[in-house]
Amino acid sequence: MLRMHFLNVGHGDCCIIEFPEHITMVDINRSQKMDDKSVKEVISAIKIKHPDRSLRDFDENVDDPDMALKEAGYDLKPQDPIQYLEENNINSFFRFISTHPHMDHLKDFGKLTESADISNVWIVKNSFGPDKQLQKQSRISDWDTYVKLRNSDSTAIKETGTPETDVLRAEENSLDDFYKTDGIKILSPNPELLKTAEDDDNPNVMSYVLLIEYGPHKIVLGGDAEKENWKYILDQYKDLIKDVTVLKAAHHGRTSGFYEEAVRHMNPEYTIVSVGNTLKPKVDASQKYKEITRNFLTTRWKGNIVLECHENGEINCITQYN
Ligand SMILES: [Zn+2]
Repeated sequence: MLRMHFLNVGHGDCCIIEFPEHITMVDINRSQKMDDKSVKEVISAIKIKHPDRSLRDFDENVDDPDMALKEAGYDLKPQDPIQYLEENNINSFFRFISTHPHMDHLKDFGKLTESADISNVWIVKNSFGPDKQLQKQSRISDWDTYVKLRNSDSTAIKETGTPETDVLRAEENSLDDFYKTDGIKILSPNPELLKTAEDDDNPNVMSYVLLIEYGPHKIVLGGDAEKENWKYILDQYKDLIKDVTVLKAAHHGRTSGFYEEAVRHMNPEYTIVSVGNTLKPKVDASQKYKEITRNFLTTRWKGNIVLECHENGEINCITQYN
């Protein structure tokens, strides 16, 4: 069985994939607290779902919205990915994949490397500097860890204190065999997209887009890819991405990551969106996805989402909230 955990990490990404032999984590975002806007939004939704209960229970003006949420059975604080690993008795894993250097995909990457042994890391070589959020003091160690791994070969990493971690790069074909372990296919970026990303100063365009095949299942993890990436993928890998079981929507379900032709071709049975606040209507592609996909789930409303893909083609979906 292949089991994927799409964690509710607020506005950001963190996906843990249990392959039959190995565990891989794609991105990390470790926020402690749900922001006020999200709390208000959740409370309003609970009011609609529970019309029989006194509104006062869930009033957005209550002094302690956390309590109101708990009373209603919704403890929608963002999931702490490091705690989640601990609770699942995972203190070492095979691979960490950093899709691209934006903070909502790297928050507490430094802490993660301290708390778990990671055999290898995938980072596309790039020359981006820290994004604005990384200027915060508390995030400097995350960026330092990223840069050390990005700029190092395995030998250099041994000197920096993470001796078990190898850095592998998509462009290094000599590492093909190791790359093929678990059968993850890298659909994007290619060197041209990486160049476009750097020329346009837009790390989203260098985001990894990954294809996992398991039995009859196809799973596409869209990172924060944008239209350029999907055009390229549709052109290069059209057959590979036809009729997928799971699409992890690109760029938190924003219109900038929604390329209709590609989504229609992928024709996903499940579309998963990892997002915090509800997006402004102008940038929210939820409705567009809903028209195409059979099951549309967001971590925003479902909490942690676990999908179990079986070799015989079955799929189970377990969500933290109904
Ligand atoms: Zn992002």
